[in-house]
Amino acid sequence: PFGFYAFNRPQAPPAPSLQNCYSVAGTNRKKVATPVPPSGPAGSRRGQQGQDEVVDERLRNVDPKMVEMIEGEMVPRGQNGGVEWDDIAGLRHAKAAMTQAIIWPMQRPELFTGLRAPPRGVLLYGPPGTGKTLIAKAIAAQCNTDFFSISASTLTSKWVGEGEKMMRALFAVARVHQPAVIFIDEIDSLLTARSDGENEGSRRLKTEFLVQVDGCNTNGDDRVLLIGATNRPHELDEAARRRFTKMLYIPLPDRDARKQLLNHLLGKANHRLTDEEISMICDRTEGYSGSDIHNLCRDAVMCPITSVTDISLLDAAEIRAVMLQDFETAMGRVKPTVAPRDLEMYLKFEKEFGSLR
Ligand code: ADP
Repeated sequence: PFGFYAFNRPQAPPAPSLQNCYSVAGTNRKKVATPVPPSGPAGSRRGQQGQDEVVDERLRNVDPKMVEMIEGEMVPRGQNGGVEWDDIAGLRHAKAAMTQAIIWPMQRPELFTGLRAPPRGVLLYGPPGTGKTLIAKAIAAQCNTDFFSISASTLTSKWVGEGEKMMRALFAVARVHQPAVIFIDEIDSLLTARSDGENEGSRRLKTEFLVQVDGCNTNGDDRVLLIGATNRPHELDEAARRRFTKMLYIPLPDRDARKQLLNHLLGKANHRLTDEEISMICDRTEGYSGSDIHNLCRDAVMCPITSVTDISLLDAAEIRAVMLQDFETAMGRVKPTVAPRDLEMYLKFEKEFGSLR
């Protein structure tokens, strides 16, 4: 509700949400009530008045309500929805690079010290819908860390004037919960190169972000990993780029990856496509992102039932299997969403700044 994605968060008590404490319509934010924290999280404890008393030194200068919200939306370790590398089609190099640079050091920190110390900031860049978020989820699941996920555009749009405080709170809470992964989506909207039009609030937010990342880097014992994702890497300025010691290109799926994805998505569907026909679809979906392919399959499997006039009379067993013709129809409707000239831009960026290939 306030920008942290809480996927598959299974705890019973509902997390305090922004709706509980603020009305967020328009820019008139108004306090209406104080949320009750779901449990006594690390770094804070419930006081006699039902309020959190901050007891951890690292949370001393942090707004306790923000701490509650962040902890409420956090995905605790062991409950990350279990995204595994096998759920992510293709991206073999990216997965291997992430395993060695991030997962191993999180699992065996004592082996990765000194020159072997892991990167504290990783930037995943590439076209939208290619698996950047999936990778962050898989890393958190495999590292068995607490996971904090926030969209930078929410920080700038919903938390006008308070984004900076929220940023400080986010890193402080992550330090208390370490080992932890902080995933910031659309990070470009936070870190775009300074322009004349930049307002004071976003300038302060950006400065706070840089300060916090530097804090993670200088405090050698902290095990907080920052993963940023962006579709517009070229918009990051030099100061921001420097904070990400690893920058990894997450490209469109190649033919093999499209095939894996199609087979995976069609695995449970009732279809009558031969291997040759699936290969043909792979050939004809060059330029589609993983998310475009997902949409294509959704559209194709709808074809057998779109001619139905009364759904209440439809017998599930009589729905015909999906055929190549359905994909032909779907391809007429679901087009690739990534423009070829954007791909050139990513390749140019990769040539100049990419790492971890
Ligand atoms: P983004 O790169 O924009 O963060 P996501 O990781 O959110 O993209 O992917 C969006 C959706 O597209 C996923 O939930 C998944 O259904 C599909 N998808 C994209 N890339 C892949 C991939 N490589 N393997 C499997 N599914 C993918």
